[in-house]
Amino acid sequence: TRPPRPHRDFVRTRASAAHNPQIRVMQWNILAQALGEGKDGFVRCPMEALNWAERKYLILEEILTYRPDIVCLQEVDHYYDTFQPMMSSLGYQSSFCPKPFSPCLDVRGNNGPDGCALFFSRERFRLLGVHHLHLSALALKTNQVAVAATLQCQVTGRALCVVVTHLKARSGWESFRGAQGANLLQQLEAILSAQQEAAVPLMVCGDFNAEPGEEVYRRFLNSPLGLDSAYRALSADAVTEPSYTTWKIRPSGESRATLDYVWYSHHGFTADAVLSMPTEEQIGPDRLPSYHYPSDHLSLVCDFSFIQEPHRLM
Ligand code: NDP
Ligand code: CA
Repeated sequence: TRPPRPHRDFVRTRASAAHNPQIRVMQWNILAQALGEGKDGFVRCPMEALNWAERKYLILEEILTYRPDIVCLQEVDHYYDTFQPMMSSLGYQSSFCPKPFSPCLDVRGNNGPDGCALFFSRERFRLLGVHHLHLSALALKTNQVAVAATLQCQVTGRALCVVVTHLKARSGWESFRGAQGANLLQQLEAILSAQQEAAVPLMVCGDFNAEPGEEVYRRFLNSPLGLDSAYRALSADAVTEPSYTTWKIRPSGESRATLDYVWYSHHGFTADAVLSMPTEEQIGPDRLPSYHYPSDHLSLVCDFSFIQEPHRLM
């Protein structure tokens, strides 16, 4: 029997506009099964805690605990055999974009490439269009991808564009991530300017593999698209990111870092509530993943509402 998952509370933000119907969004790097078992080297996590037959239910439990309207996942290497059918039976429509040369493919007994997957409630949204983006850096194709879906909210009639991405990992690749981020922003601007409806607001969920001090973070914060990072609202000054979104121990040592973000158009949405991060005590001395928690990255969950346009009152 496994210990219970850490309990996390939603924290309402100062911007909170509770009268509007909310859209709950989850961002989560779920840890590819092939990488967790074959590549990552989480030395303080027992191999039995990574057993897929059980771990998949912990991932599902995390999603079902919060029941998001939109779920953005990275490192999905069990889409066709697990998440697509499981999430479909729970009422989600989805789209999956594998990485062209997924590192999972190097692992013996792998289940195919990992990639980014986007799920949305079929009841809440209608799919207007979807793009699978391959990110470039300095005009060269890279191994990183994104899924961008334009959805129409069935409650408000409003459209939004939701994006899930996973940028290049590791230190030494900071300017590469900067270039990938610039390319993603460029491709999103092109998608948005081609929309029928004017000014469709954006949400970009991702494992950016970049701390807030990196170039790619500044590029997103200062982009002409007008983006803000939802988890900044958790801090006392409302501009500081959480101290960690991933925490693990590899042979090279302990790594605690803020790499995951939920960006949103501040002209289009207010971030009304965010799910707080578990404490160091809740995470435990062996860090992540563990018997308590199935990934080395924590899920980020936010409640958004559309900012009311004066000419479109509901
Ligand atoms: P990344 O460098 O982006 O990382 C891949 C995964 O490794 C990520 O999921 C990342 O997790 C994880 N990771 C990060 N740090 C570590 C670490 N210290 N130890 C173990 N795992 C870590 O991968 P790429 O997409 O650039 O792909 C690299 C692989 O792809 C190579 O192994 C190569 O085999 C293959 N490849 C093959 C090509 C070909 O032409 N055949 C071309 C390009 C790549 P997280 O995001 O959670 O940090
Ligand atoms: Ca990983």
